[in-house]
Amino acid sequence: MLTIGCHLSSSKGYANMADVAASIGANTFQFFTRNPRGGRAKDIDPKDIEAFEEKCAEHQIQTILAHAPYTLNPAAKKPETREFAINTLADDLTRMEATPGQLYNMHPGAHVGQGPEVGIELIADAINQALKPEHTTTVLLETMAGKGTEIGRSFQELADIISRVELSDKMGVCLDTCHVWDGGYDVANGLDQVLDEFDQVIGLDRLRAIHINDSKNPLGAHKDRHEVIGGGHIGLDAIAAMTAHPALHHLPFFLETPHEDVAEYGEEIAAIKAAREELL
Ligand code: FE
Ligand code: FE
Ligand code: ZN
Repeated sequence: MLTIGCHLSSSKGYANMADVAASIGANTFQFFTRNPRGGRAKDIDPKDIEAFEEKCAEHQIQTILAHAPYTLNPAAKKPETREFAINTLADDLTRMEATPGQLYNMHPGAHVGQGPEVGIELIADAINQALKPEHTTTVLLETMAGKGTEIGRSFQELADIISRVELSDKMGVCLDTCHVWDGGYDVANGLDQVLDEFDQVIGLDRLRAIHINDSKNPLGAHKDRHEVIGGGHIGLDAIAAMTAHPALHHLPFFLETPHEDVAEYGEEIAAIKAAREELL
């Protein structure tokens, strides 16, 4: 069974997201734990979680993916900025225990001129401060496009962070198709080679989620501009092939494509499912 969904607004709570997902043919979803620009998170309502659990059973939703605010920078130079990132990560991981055993994705950070080696050390140290043995969540580092001083532009940078995390059995990777494409990994024409490299550098067992986005830019552009599936340089066939690939088909797939409303995600999910059927 294909596990596929999209990014949804969390403003109406967990049970609402489960309903919205089911209404567009999705059986998973991604959401921001709080305002994507940071700030305080709303308290989790135990009644909402109870309703959510019922809806998950009803709609066969097993996996959900929380996304950290993208403005966090655990590799920041300024101590206050780093402190804020560490506190937010720790708070998010505590809140994630309302839905135990799920996935939490974060952008590793940006070294802001300190160099990737320093950035990698700072990120691993931040995770070591936030992640506790009692946490049941798997923390995913997202593959990045390599814009500016972003860390995570190569599989090696992610492997170097994970190897420095003490509780590394709680760590995984979320592969974003637009980001790796922009980072120079040709998932459209050389998926098997890319997956071989991932396996050698990080280990395919670490790969826990896929962000499926087309890219507005050519291979290796280091830009990070998402496009709707089939509207960019990667294409629908390549995305469908990933959802059907024997090394990937068990993973959850999440759209983060530019759409005005959720119905458009429903159409995109249907198109991917149809193209995938052709390949099976
Ligand atoms: Fe992201
Ligand atoms: Fe992404
Ligand atoms: Zn992106």
